[in-house]
Amino acid sequence: MQITANDPKRKSWISVPKDCDFPIQNIPFGVFITKDDIITIGTRIGDKVIDLGALQQLGYFKGIKLSDDVFLQDTLNDFISHGRKRWREVRNRIADLFDVENTELQHHTEQVSLILFDLEEIEMLLPVDIGDYTDFYSSIVHAENAGKMFFGKDHHLTPNWKHLPICYHGRSSSVIKSGTPVRRPKGQILDENGQVIYTATRKLDFELEMGYITTDGYHLGEPIEINETEEHIFGMVLLNDWSARDIQKWETLPLGPYLSKNFATTISPWIITMDALEPFRTQGPIQEPKPLPYLQKSGKHTFDIQLSASIKTEHDVETEICRTNFKHQYWTMNQQLAHHTSNGCNLRSGDLFGSGTISAPEPSGYATLLELAWNETKPITLNDGSQRTFVQDYDMIILKGFCANDHVRIGFGECYSKVLPASK
Ligand code: MN
Repeated sequence: MQITANDPKRKSWISVPKDCDFPIQNIPFGVFITKDDIITIGTRIGDKVIDLGALQQLGYFKGIKLSDDVFLQDTLNDFISHGRKRWREVRNRIADLFDVENTELQHHTEQVSLILFDLEEIEMLLPVDIGDYTDFYSSIVHAENAGKMFFGKDHHLTPNWKHLPICYHGRSSSVIKSGTPVRRPKGQILDENGQVIYTATRKLDFELEMGYITTDGYHLGEPIEINETEEHIFGMVLLNDWSARDIQKWETLPLGPYLSKNFATTISPWIITMDALEPFRTQGPIQEPKPLPYLQKSGKHTFDIQLSASIKTEHDVETEICRTNFKHQYWTMNQQLAHHTSNGCNLRSGDLFGSGTISAPEPSGYATLLELAWNETKPITLNDGSQRTFVQDYDMIILKGFCANDHVRIGFGECYSKVLPASK
């Protein structure tokens, strides 16, 4: 089935501001709550949010095999379980309905007023009920930089790094939607005098990542072959894997991060489908040595997604501190999922995978403060003249991302959280 929703010539009867992340070719999926406390599933064109539950009740998805209440739910899990064919049919249908050439809905003023909301009228919620959250370590630049800072300048990649996508299992209960504040965590650290103490972290950091949401895999015990993995990825979001570096350094050996990362993970509210990203496919980096056959895939199987991170201070001064691109990741989503299921571990609708920190080769593209300020040795200067080596209380970290070619821009919106002081 063709992805007719992606036609770059398409224009919507909803106005779309210049450089908007959400043209009619995007059609992301999210969950929102209205002022009347009604929770529903929606999409977005320009600055309007569209109630898909109401659209379905009005009969606009007739002919597409969907359960009756699929959009009247407070999460996207059920819709995601419907599978890739249905996602594509629904996106194509929405694109048609909102196409300027189509008067079916456009001229029904009463219906239009029922289904369209201004951004100020609604609040976005977490889009999925996340069963499991797994975070990779798939940027070679980040792995080399972080390794040196944690284990000394002579540290090299671990012997397994180029053979398998390394990761840890995170915590889904503390995944929060963009806009939710993050309280500075406390924990056990080894201080500069060699004393083990319990304190508020002194090295709070962000990690600029992308998350992807999966649908159900096969039964427990059945691996997903690498060429099948894309059938199981619904879409992507921006993801900030908040990290407390002092807690991490002390706790991480031998089993990996725990309390240094599970206090909060922020994600952006709109899931951008893999179908919408299709025009932005690109080649991944050359992998040498060649991975084992179950991790091999030829062709263009990563995506050109431009990413940035900014700090906005307490006094609302915003400074961009990092610019990078998703295509730099050494291990791709296909390889990560093929590896994840290679032992028979299953996938469920709504599971969240983190790409791993996306550090670019050049220092301006390092995607953590640990790397940008090189472990406190090179403080970065913000637009208000203040300096940072790690995140301060009341700083807001804002992640942005978009894909663009000569015809269309598909964006992710923003993923932001402000840091509040540690609890007493
Ligand atoms: Mn991470």
